[in-house]
Amino acid sequence: MRTIAILGATGSIGTQALDIVRRYPERFRANCLTANASSEKLFELVRQFRPDVAALNAEPDHIPEDVRFCQWFFGPDSTVKALEAAKSMDALCAIVGIAGLDAVWRALDVCQRVLLANKEALVTGGGLVMKKAAERGIPMLPVDSEHSAIFQCLQARQGNPVRRLLLTCSGGALRDWDRDRIYNATVRDVLAHPTWNMGGKITVDCATRVNKGLEVIEAHHLFDMPAEKIDVVIHPQSVIHSMVEFEDGAVLAQLGMPDMRGPIGYAMGYPGRLPYDAKPVDFFALGHLDFRAPDGERFPCLSPSGASRRSSNRRWTPCL
Ligand code: NDP
Repeated sequence: MRTIAILGATGSIGTQALDIVRRYPERFRANCLTANASSEKLFELVRQFRPDVAALNAEPDHIPEDVRFCQWFFGPDSTVKALEAAKSMDALCAIVGIAGLDAVWRALDVCQRVLLANKEALVTGGGLVMKKAAERGIPMLPVDSEHSAIFQCLQARQGNPVRRLLLTCSGGALRDWDRDRIYNATVRDVLAHPTWNMGGKITVDCATRVNKGLEVIEAHHLFDMPAEKIDVVIHPQSVIHSMVEFEDGAVLAQLGMPDMRGPIGYAMGYPGRLPYDAKPVDFFALGHLDFRAPDGERFPCLSPSGASRRSSNRRWTPCL
């Protein structure tokens, strides 16, 4: 039985992680749940999962009688205080944006493992965060599907050097739009992701491809890989979640139908795999898998780096 703090419990990743907790009550207990301002949603989760500790960034108007059994924290430091009080074995860091950095930092002090969805923590503080994780010997288990895929492929590494990492990218909602149409895109257009159902910020970042830039930076920190050795491949079907190429040219890929419960469950159960009602990959129904180079003109976050412009083997790195 592992205790787990779900930081960002009301969000897309948080609620899917709680689905896994619900499915495996003998394996996990969510003893700490936190959110920003979705008080009613958090109260409902507290009723269902009965954590020891809960936290809300914004103080609610009222606290219902039936959720007062647990210890509550409110206000700007509430997540960190809840983490300290809960003493969970694992922390699933699924707060969106730089607001999650504090929690990741504190989780490295008080937890045995950090399950990282909050890519912005590595984008903003990657050098320091990874140094602290290494010094304290705390595993950082990736939840982002691409990084989970790379992490899974690297299990077969056996000490061999890696030539490059290949991050796949669905292309987002505006993948096939021309520049003028992109300029006039509505919020509804931008939020209509073709393959993944995710929180608002990451869906917008996918449409602009800024998300892929953030993911290159995340991969750089997580896997200690220079940016020149990280390429982005547009793969509209989102079935290959990412790949690792070794020095002998062998490329290992991790495949699965797009469903975040896969990578979330892999991080939670690591090193074991937790079965869930995952749809199998139906290769005959798919028929083909497609790949394209990123278009740095329409989506300038991913532009050819200076070095690659001079070579025929063009590499795509974020120009953030
Ligand atoms: P959501 O917007 O769905 O959820 C964000 C969660 O963080 C909510 O619980 C929210 O609470 C909480 N939160 C927001 N701001 C604060 C704050 N200032 N203090 C404390 N809690 C806060 O985001 P996602 O679940 O989509 O994404 C979470 C992270 O995971 C992001 O970093 C994202 O890039 C990454 N990720 C997400 C994927 C996905 O499929 N969704 C895939 C891969 C990575 P409240 O509900 O009260 O606002």
